[in-house]
Amino acid sequence: MKAASRDRRERGLPSTARLRLRPFGYELDGITHRPAEAAALREAYDALIVGSDFVEIANRWNRAGFRNAFEQPWTAGAVSGVIWNPRQMGKVAYGGRIVADAVWEPMVDEITWRVIRARSKHRAIPARSLLGHIATCGKVLEDGTACGRVVSTGRQNGRPAYRCLGPTQHLTRRTDLVDAQVTKWVLARLARPSVQTRLTEGDRALAATHAQLARLRARELVEEGTAVPPADFGEVLAPIRAEIRELEERVVRTRLRTLIGRQLVSQTATEAWDGWSILERRQVIGAVAVITIASNPPARTPYCAKAVKILPRR
Ligand SMILES: [Zn+2]
Repeated sequence: MKAASRDRRERGLPSTARLRLRPFGYELDGITHRPAEAAALREAYDALIVGSDFVEIANRWNRAGFRNAFEQPWTAGAVSGVIWNPRQMGKVAYGGRIVADAVWEPMVDEITWRVIRARSKHRAIPARSLLGHIATCGKVLEDGTACGRVVSTGRQNGRPAYRCLGPTQHLTRRTDLVDAQVTKWVLARLARPSVQTRLTEGDRALAATHAQLARLRARELVEEGTAVPPADFGEVLAPIRAEIRELEERVVRTRLRTLIGRQLVSQTATEAWDGWSILERRQVIGAVAVITIASNPPARTPYCAKAVKILPRR
């Protein structure tokens, strides 16, 4: 029995033990897509790219009348179990390890699956603010460079404020005023036809990014095989892996931009913005802007918009 199921796995077939429960999105054979559920699954990955979470997806699936394998309504936990199953990116896993490419059509590409998975692990701080962990601190240091650390939220005189996460806490700006300025900028940007066209078109250099990713992955494999001392191992591999992560982020950001562009075909920027949750707005901002917040020059001057630098992300 064991040898038989290992053989099935290595051939990329679903395990027979699982066949008693139909996987969401597939027929009982675990291979054939069930169209309505498969569409819901693919939409769920798009929603996660745009910043949605499992609670929202569970609600959406329940409203659409979908039920889990036990004919029960979906919960956030059950949805995450489905989303993080490697079968969705067309892989057969066993004991937490991927053992083969599956014979069935994937619901999501591997890069998207990995990027949103990594993102979900690093979302340690709940996103309550619009720009926390997105904008960086623009305080100019003694050597003339900007601080560059991400900002978080705290309070100043009883009001919510962005603060630099650096050791000296050299930045405090009221969140409501900065948020209003950034929102205005993003809405004006999204309303521009040329920007909408560029968003929809995606990234022309995407093929080059994929080629570079393939080269880096090949190098990663070689280094894994040749590096002997464990200390060097990390030193050689860490920068390669960091670069891989960055390129993968870029690929998924391109997809996010396309999704935003598509939404702006049927809605005005303001309508779209009003319909987005704070999680989604954060993703949108990150996709179109690079924001640096510096201190208001001398105390007690009115709000200084110039001290918040917003650059379009290409
Ligand atoms: Zn700083």
